[in-house]
Amino acid sequence: MRKNGTDTRRQAREERLKKEREERFSRFDAACAALCGQGYTQRDKTLPPRRAGTLGILTAAPFAIAAIVGGLFLPDLHFLLTGSLFADAALFLVLLLASIPAHEGLHALGWAAVSGTFRGLRFGLADGSPYCACEKPLCRWKYLVGALLPLAVLGLGLSAAGLCLRTVPLFVLGAFNIACAGGDILVSARAAASPGLLLDHPERCGFYQFCRPPESARGEEN
Ligand SMILES: [Zn+2]
Repeated sequence: MRKNGTDTRRQAREERLKKEREERFSRFDAACAALCGQGYTQRDKTLPPRRAGTLGILTAAPFAIAAIVGGLFLPDLHFLLTGSLFADAALFLVLLLASIPAHEGLHALGWAAVSGTFRGLRFGLADGSPYCACEKPLCRWKYLVGALLPLAVLGLGLSAAGLCLRTVPLFVLGAFNIACAGGDILVSARAAASPGLLLDHPERCGFYQFCRPPESARGEEN
């Protein structure tokens, strides 16, 4: 009986997730169709998830290694935050885990700040990884603010704080967050070279670019 109950709940959850995914993609397709209807041409600037993961790690690794190696050469380093190894290990683990949802929250905060609303921002899980996607098309600088905010605050901010305070756990945490932002660095490099409007893909790493011929694009933000 209990097994049947668990199976039914799992099935209901899978169906709900499938329905939500279909709705997300239908909103994305509708936004693409609306922009194409306004005379924009569409270009896929997304990366397959596996390639994005590998390339993202390779992109972020030199920055993360530089933060750790640079810090370890500083004099008078502090290896503990609390004074107790046990409490430090627990705190470090909590901060490490908390930085994953905080990363997605900062994407949302950045995009909400530049568009003046939280509407159109979605959180979810794709292949077990949490994500935040913006369902509104944004011009390049606005897209970059949301894409790079987690790297700026959690990656560079924590690394800089750790280096200034000479505290090893802080700059290791900063380096971890730089490594987590590898995909964002990769996508931002592509976005920086993509004028027009950028629409975040609901699941894949990257965006669709929408451009209009120069005469009809006059006056648009780039
Ligand atoms: Zn990110």
